[in-house]
Amino acid sequence: MDIQQQINSLRDELRQHNHNYYSLDNPTISDYDFDIKLKQLQALENQNPEFFDENSPTLRVGGAITKNFETIVHEHRMYSLDNSYSKEDLLDWEIRIKKIIEGPIQFTCELKYDGASISLTYENGSLIKAVTRGDGTQGDNVTANIKTIKSVPLKLRGDFPSKFDIRGEIVLPFEGFNKMNEERIEIGEEPYRNPRNTASGSLKLQDSAEVAKRPLECLLYNITGKNLGIDSQFESLESARKMGFKVPDLAKLVDSIDAIFEFVAYWDVHRHDLPYETDGVVIKVNDLQQQEELGYTAKAPRWAIAYKFKAEQQSTHLESIRYQVGRTGAITPVANLEPVELAGTTVKRASLHNADQIEKLDIRVGDTVFVEKGGEIIPKIVGVDLNQRPSDSQPTVYITQCPVCETELVRQEGEAQHYCPNYAGCKPQIIGRIQHYISRKAMDIEGLGGETVALLVNAGLINNYSDLYELSKDRVLPLERMAEKSAENLISGIEASKQIPFERVLFALGIRYVGETVAKKLVKHYKSIDAIVSATIIDLVAVDEIGIRIAESVVEFFGLISNKEVIERLRSFGIQLEISAEKLANQTDKLKNKTFVVSGVFEILSRNELKKLIEDNGGKVSSSISSKTSYVVAGDKMGPSKRTKAEQLKIPIISEFDLIKYIK
Ligand code: AMP
Ligand code: ZN
Repeated sequence: MDIQQQINSLRDELRQHNHNYYSLDNPTISDYDFDIKLKQLQALENQNPEFFDENSPTLRVGGAITKNFETIVHEHRMYSLDNSYSKEDLLDWEIRIKKIIEGPIQFTCELKYDGASISLTYENGSLIKAVTRGDGTQGDNVTANIKTIKSVPLKLRGDFPSKFDIRGEIVLPFEGFNKMNEERIEIGEEPYRNPRNTASGSLKLQDSAEVAKRPLECLLYNITGKNLGIDSQFESLESARKMGFKVPDLAKLVDSIDAIFEFVAYWDVHRHDLPYETDGVVIKVNDLQQQEELGYTAKAPRWAIAYKFKAEQQSTHLESIRYQVGRTGAITPVANLEPVELAGTTVKRASLHNADQIEKLDIRVGDTVFVEKGGEIIPKIVGVDLNQRPSDSQPTVYITQCPVCETELVRQEGEAQHYCPNYAGCKPQIIGRIQHYISRKAMDIEGLGGETVALLVNAGLINNYSDLYELSKDRVLPLERMAEKSAENLISGIEASKQIPFERVLFALGIRYVGETVAKKLVKHYKSIDAIVSATIIDLVAVDEIGIRIAESVVEFFGLISNKEVIERLRSFGIQLEISAEKLANQTDKLKNKTFVVSGVFEILSRNELKKLIEDNGGKVSSSISSKTSYVVAGDKMGPSKRTKAEQLKIPIISEFDLIKYIK
């Protein structure tokens, strides 16, 4: 097999695996094996840039930046849908279409996915462009972003029309949405409101690598074009599925309004079992010829209608508003409600988000409010029943002081949230920080839970995380529900945390915006807490991928004397505050400011080991040769085009031995 065949066969194989995994939910290979193959392909493509293919599976990780999204006119307009809310509405619709169509009519019933609509254009089996709905006539070209969504096939399978548009919805399944929010909360950012807005916001991100990280999916429902060789909607769903698109297997072909209603009734209940949000059912006349006869109104097809599920809404009484203080000091207002049944659960609380939200809806204690359960876990208040407002009702005055420590709250320009600035003395912040410190991804202290932390703080035994290391069995035993054995576990868990590596310690400190990834980057660059403490904002932003917001937050954190003291105490207890000697022994600055391209097959090190060696010694690895490349590290079978390019640009070509010798 020559190189090109090898590349093509890897691409085909990876496409098949992507399809199995993302469209069929049925992987046939481990993630690890998939990664290995992807890396093989990447290596071959790097060495042989002449076989570049913009639809290669290696390009799924994104990287393209779009500054301004180009406006594109849809070749086939993207219509809206008429809505219906009752069986009567559906019967009326049937009467309207029976005036135009003679003979029996079949209907395809589908779910109405709640996300952002998208139109994909394919030519000769390749994805050409992806455009948002916009105003229906023209939308934004978001192709680079859409290509990172793994369930969007870049190349089609089997038989397909030579040119067509296919429409669908970009959704963010609950699981991925909740995970994204957990990560945001972890770094002290406000969680996203709901999956739909987050999905549609994702399409307009400028950095496609950011989009690639989001677990978006594309569900397809309509093929549009000329000479498609398809006779019905139901058939078109099947053929889209065969071409490799993700088309949920939930549509049903029926021939009466009663059967439509059965479908609606079933999904009104069972939609809660689906992994993504739906807001109704779409009913379409199945036969494409009949569709053509029916045509369109000014804004929607006559041959289709949406049936909207009633948003699960209830009215109840707002008893009081409680203000919660998070570990970063952020204040969240929470509504205490008279308990009410909603979507199968009893609801007692709803998030009010922030002061603006309360003001916008003019929510007052004593009001009868409407609560809804959308994609988010916590229900929200969507409105107030003004007819039921008591005559003596008073507008809500947002608190100006911390509900716990009574410090005057602050609200920064451009932020929605109020904050309690009493960093050192506010109990919920103190408890929250220690809870973060001991959490699984941070110091992972076994034998110590969040509630025990609160007990310890309230009992005056600890006030910050460094105090943990002064606890002893005798001191914790008097605590409520603390048995001999659990006290021992607690102390040994705390002791064991002294082995946790520095990068996790840095994350555990709970510096705002310093999540796991940022902590790793900082540790890699600075290697010790002392170096980080003495870094200025200017130093910090010079580090790869550290922005101004993070830099300011780091400097502010270490600017506090109290934090410096805590760090000194952690040091005295033997917490890891620098990269371990073993790790450090293999790290130098010798390749600082140098960029390397690695190409070919090597004798003593694998490509990955070689890359790691370069990075550990302060160098940067890039995948393609440019004038910025300092050296090309070449092994056996280096790609000929790479060699030519390096020679043209007069970039020195060295061997793995040269590199190792230089570092040693
Ligand atoms: P609306 O936004 O209420 O006008 O509803 C029309 C939108 O519903 C379309 O633009 C699609 O994005 C979306 N939609 C979701 N699922 C489907 C489906 N199965 N068939 C047609 N449209 C759908
Ligand atoms: Zn406070």
